[in-house]
Amino acid sequence: MNAYIERTIESVKTRYSNEPEFCQTVEEVLSSLEPVVDMHPEYEKFDILGRMVEPERMFTFRVCWEDDNHQWHTNTGYRCQFNGSIGPYKGGIRFQRNVNPSIMKFLGFEQTFKNSLTGLPIGGGKGGSDFDPSGKSDGEIMRFCQSFMQALYRYIGPDTDVPAGDMGVGGREIGYLFGEYRRLKGKFENGVLTGKGFSYGGSRIRPEATGYGAVYYLENVLRDDGEELAGKTIACAGFGNVTWGICKKATELGAKVVTLSGPDGYVYDPDGVCTPEKIDYLVAMRASGRNKVKDYADKFGVEFHEGEKPWGVKVDIVMPSAMQNDVRMDSAKKIAANHIRYYIEVANMPTTNDALRFLMAQPDIIVAPSKAVNAGGVATSALEMSQNSERLVWTAEEVDRQLHTIMDTIYKNSVDAAARNGLGYNLVAGANIAGFERVADAMIQQGVF
Ligand code: GLU
Repeated sequence: MNAYIERTIESVKTRYSNEPEFCQTVEEVLSSLEPVVDMHPEYEKFDILGRMVEPERMFTFRVCWEDDNHQWHTNTGYRCQFNGSIGPYKGGIRFQRNVNPSIMKFLGFEQTFKNSLTGLPIGGGKGGSDFDPSGKSDGEIMRFCQSFMQALYRYIGPDTDVPAGDMGVGGREIGYLFGEYRRLKGKFENGVLTGKGFSYGGSRIRPEATGYGAVYYLENVLRDDGEELAGKTIACAGFGNVTWGICKKATELGAKVVTLSGPDGYVYDPDGVCTPEKIDYLVAMRASGRNKVKDYADKFGVEFHEGEKPWGVKVDIVMPSAMQNDVRMDSAKKIAANHIRYYIEVANMPTTNDALRFLMAQPDIIVAPSKAVNAGGVATSALEMSQNSERLVWTAEEVDRQLHTIMDTIYKNSVDAAARNGLGYNLVAGANIAGFERVADAMIQQGVF
């Protein structure tokens, strides 16, 4: 291993030993940059890696809110402005009980590479709170979002930092956040947030974009392998917005999503989550705030496996689309034993590093990394920003066409970056290198700070 890379990884692991997810992503990404770092001695001279693993800025803030019984609560809010060298910081806000500095930094770091890979002018950021939205009333959610924005609004803006949704933050929350921003600023600056409702500046296709983009990327993988999507079975995880988009697009193209998962277990629907009724039910199930996938099994009379993950199911394609570290070594071994050829990550860092290394070492498995596969979401957010700044509204067809082109380009650039660096067909290293090169170039040209 290149000594500079090794030193940077070790330094992060020592200084942030209490931030395991952040250390994990730094190790995964940096260790695949060897050929480019070897080739560019100036990266070490200007400490590009050391600067890239340190957020430009990250802050916390107090968020107080009143529940329906007039009891007050206090949570921690975060915004991590990781890297702004190629555009305003851009990335989602996550509301989930387990949000902490490690999760914020891992997501901000991944986001920087992902956003660069889209080829669009967006830097990397992430935010959130340890607020747990499950079981909260609409009024409680609104008051929490208003309080969150009161603390954050001074530090974001259409040319500064543009948050969006992530887990626990969907269209409803973005609406409340934008309403509060507008009230505080006294200006209709709707380019400050993406994932907005269509009536006040949201983009067509944004809700579907992450799932659609993942399927467009997958089609590229299959085509280069002499295969096609029609007739294939897919194991997904989660039942949120991303999985919903995959179900819609996969169905349209003749494939079937046969598993969904939640914190309570997974469901197996051999007929596929492929009727409008079933696909719409995912939205209702998420909106209920119960966070239980068993509801789907009860409604449609399919198998429910309590407390288990869907990675032992024999399918053609596995798409972990729920959360980080959902696939560990035991699951990876089941995937290999089932001779599953396509392992397509969708959620941010869904695979532990040892499981990822194991899967990549299997000669018959093609592994695609989440930062490329799920980049259609943030790319469509950038298209939303363009529409807002031009005060234009593009049709669904236009947005979908651009999304499709962006996903094809991300795939192609990843393949080319790996090949150019003597790594063969390696979608994981290719995405890391392509994302890295653009940010590194911009940082060098802008001087050291
Ligand atoms: N949270 C999504 C992501 O991880 C979307 C971010 C955005 O649209 O800014 O990429």
